[in-house]
Amino acid sequence: FPLAHVASIPPYPPGRPIDAVAREFGLDPAAIVKLASNENPLGCSPRATEALAKAAAETHLYPDFDCYALKQALAAQLGVPATHVLPAAGSSELISLVARAFLDGDRKAVIPQYAFQAYEGAIGSVGAEAVIVPVRGWQADLDAMLAAVDDRVHLIYLATPNNPTGTVVPTVDLERFVEALPPHVLLVLDEAYREFLPPEQQPDIARLFARRRNLLVMRTFSKVHGLAALRVGYGIGDPELLGLLRRLQLPFSVGAPAQAAAIAALGDAEFVERGRRENAAERQRMEERFAALGIEHVPSFGNFVLARTGNGPATAQALMRRGVIVRPVAGSGLVDWIRVSVGTARENDIFFEKLDDVRADAK
Ligand code: PMP
Repeated sequence: FPLAHVASIPPYPPGRPIDAVAREFGLDPAAIVKLASNENPLGCSPRATEALAKAAAETHLYPDFDCYALKQALAAQLGVPATHVLPAAGSSELISLVARAFLDGDRKAVIPQYAFQAYEGAIGSVGAEAVIVPVRGWQADLDAMLAAVDDRVHLIYLATPNNPTGTVVPTVDLERFVEALPPHVLLVLDEAYREFLPPEQQPDIARLFARRRNLLVMRTFSKVHGLAALRVGYGIGDPELLGLLRRLQLPFSVGAPAQAAAIAALGDAEFVERGRRENAAERQRMEERFAALGIEHVPSFGNFVLARTGNGPATAQALMRRGVIVRPVAGSGLVDWIRVSVGTARENDIFFEKLDDVRADAK
């Protein structure tokens, strides 16, 4: 018999793939706009595409499980020794690895309300308890999270910018939090959307590590680098911690094409800068549009906007029938809200056009 807790793990609700929506609603896949998974509407760097084409010639060989070249490239860019980085199959793999390394049926993890849903899945997967701390005005309440820490809490997940709200933890608050947490707790700082912040607002992780050793910073190539299909991300932290996590990794979890493309993507700072710039411009346009329609939204620092359209699941379904895929977030308790990824100007225009249709129909 499977363990009893498995049936109660909240399933991860992925954005519906374009092909699945095309099949269900009899639509042309080419006409569908997907704004449901915070992907990069610009695709990826041409350098990554080129590296992928090269990697395609060697599909019969296992990848380098040590990710030597990728670690070197990351270390050089981050200014840390290669022993302080651990590539993984997306930050999703790291989310799961830390849960397996730090939690069991007797332990608890603290997360803020309206956090990335995979955290609860990872916590539940090892039979641990999730302590969900209410936000204050959409912001993670760090004081309340600190107060929620007791001897049974061994892990905290905290994302900045956060998904799905798009809020950031101010750097001073983050530094104070990192210092105040008791040493037996691992803080997992999820920076999946870091690159969408203006550089001067990006946390200085050297300052965080100077204040705390029990810290894992997670980043991904899925968002600004546009490599979501390849499943590659990385952790930054103490070599001892990374060594433990690596023991739990599936052998060869990061494929060779993913490693090669990630290295190439790291080398294209211009592509990243363009992604940040275009995202900021389009996000502002979307936020202004929501405001003009009288639709409440949460000011976002990510590549998505959380908007109160009323009945999120019904709105998302009605949009989907019209060929626009967005994310209902009712599973996080945000029943009246949808999360819309920032697409290209054309995609965002189509979204608002279809949203107008949906709202007109609902009247
Ligand atoms: N963290 C956050 C906050 C996310 O929103 C996502 C993706 N939606 C991830 C982690 C996982 O990203 P990946 O596994 O593709 O690196």
